[in-house]
Amino acid sequence: MTFKDNEPAPAKDTASVLFGMDGVTVTEAGCGDDGRLAVWARITLPAVCPGCGTVSERVHQYVTTRPRDVRACGQDVELCLVKRRMRCAEAACPRRTFTEWAPQVPPRCAITRRLLEHAAAEVTDRGITPAEAGRDAGISWPSVHSAFGQAADQLLDDSPAPVAHLGIDEHRRGRPRWRTDEATGETVQLADRWHVCFYDLDGNQGLLGQVEGRTADDTAYWLAGATPAWRDAVQVVAIDMCAIFLSAVRRALPDARVAVDLFHVVQLAVKMVGDVRRRAIRELYGRRGKSGDPEYGIKGLLTRNVENLSPEQFDKIIGTLDASAEGQQVALAWIAKEKLRDALKLRARVTGSTPCERQVRGRLFSFYDWCAQNEDVPELITLASTIARWENEIVTAVLTGVTNATSESLNRLAKLEARRAYGFRNPANQRRRVRIACTRGTRHRAARPRARHGE
Ligand SMILES: [Zn+2]
Repeated sequence: MTFKDNEPAPAKDTASVLFGMDGVTVTEAGCGDDGRLAVWARITLPAVCPGCGTVSERVHQYVTTRPRDVRACGQDVELCLVKRRMRCAEAACPRRTFTEWAPQVPPRCAITRRLLEHAAAEVTDRGITPAEAGRDAGISWPSVHSAFGQAADQLLDDSPAPVAHLGIDEHRRGRPRWRTDEATGETVQLADRWHVCFYDLDGNQGLLGQVEGRTADDTAYWLAGATPAWRDAVQVVAIDMCAIFLSAVRRALPDARVAVDLFHVVQLAVKMVGDVRRRAIRELYGRRGKSGDPEYGIKGLLTRNVENLSPEQFDKIIGTLDASAEGQQVALAWIAKEKLRDALKLRARVTGSTPCERQVRGRLFSFYDWCAQNEDVPELITLASTIARWENEIVTAVLTGVTNATSESLNRLAKLEARRAYGFRNPANQRRRVRIACTRGTRHRAARPRARHGE
C-alpha cells in the first residue's frame, strides 16, 4: 500500500462514504488472506502535534495499525490503517515526533471508538452483559466494561432528583455463607449479604440508591446521606411490613408518612386463613389434609376475593365449613379476612373517590371487633395485633393509594440483572448495572415517543 507524501486529500469516494469514519479515507478494499474483508485506509486530517499544536508536514515514518472495528455489511472487517509518524515542525517542542490520528482512532487505540460505543450501547440499551457484548464485538471484557462505565455515567445522575414517593425494598446479594465451627461442631453463618434498595415510585429515576446490609442503621445511613432539601421533598415512603424499614424512616425522615404495601397485608390475612384451615383439619382428622377431604377441597376458594366467587362456589364454602365446629372456625377466619379487605377496598383505585380517614378506621375497627368476639381462634388475635401495630401505615396506604408495586417490579429487574451476570463481585458495578436496567424503559420511551392514532 503506497501513496505519495503531501498528496492532497481526495474528495470522499464511495468506499470512504460507506465506511463512514470521519477523517479516514479508504484506499483499497478486498478479501484478506484469512478470508475476511480487508479495508486499507489512511488518515486525511492535518497532522497536529499534541505537544505544541503546530501542523506538521514532515513525515518520519509510516506505520500500519490494525484497530478492531465494527462489522461492515455484516462482514468482519480487518482495518489496516496506515498512519504517518510526523516530525514536529517546532524546534523547541519537547515532542520530537508524533503519530497522526482521527476522532475514531485516537493515539494508541487498538479498538475504534465506534466499536466501543456499539458494545457499550449493547449493555446500556439492550441489557446484554459486557461479556456477551465483548464476545460479539471480538474485544475483551475490560474494554467493554470501561466503555459501558463511561456511557452509563453520562446517562445517570450522581445525586438523585427529589422524589415525592419513595419505595424501599430489599433483596439478597449472593447466597449466605456457612462454616462449621470445629470446636463446637455448630454451623456458623459467615455472611448473609443483603441489599436495601431505594426506588423512585412516581418518576423515571428507577433505582435511587442501594446499600449493603439490611439493618435499620444501614437504611437510615443512606437516607441521612441525602441533602436536607431531598429529605424534605419525600412525602410518602412505601415499605413492606418490615419493622426495620419503619424505624429507619422514622429516624431519618420524621416528616414523611409511611404507607405499608397493601398486597402484603392481604397476603398476611390469606396466610392466616390457611393456618386456621390446616389446624382445623389436623384437629378433625388427626392428620394433615389430603385430597378428598372437603375442607382440603376448598383451600383454593378460600384464598380468592369473595366478590370473585360464583354463587355455587360461595355455597360450597358455606356448606363445607358449616358441617363441623372446626370448619366454623375456618369460616370465622375467612370472614375476618374479608372484613380486613373491606377497609382496604376503600382506596381510590377501587372506589374512584377519595376515602375519608374515619371511614377507613371505622372498617378496621369492625375487623378488630370481629377478631375480639372470636378470641377462641388464636390466629385471629395474632393477625389483629399485627394489623393494629401497622394501623397508621395501612390507613396512609389506603388514603394516599401509594403502593410498593413499582419497587417490587424494579426489585425483580435488580435480581434479574444479578442472574444475568451470574452474580457480581463488585457492589459498585452491580449498582450501576441495576440503575441502567431500571431506567432503560424510560430512556426508550423518551427516545421513541409512541405515535397516537390519527397523528
Ligand atoms: Zn510539537
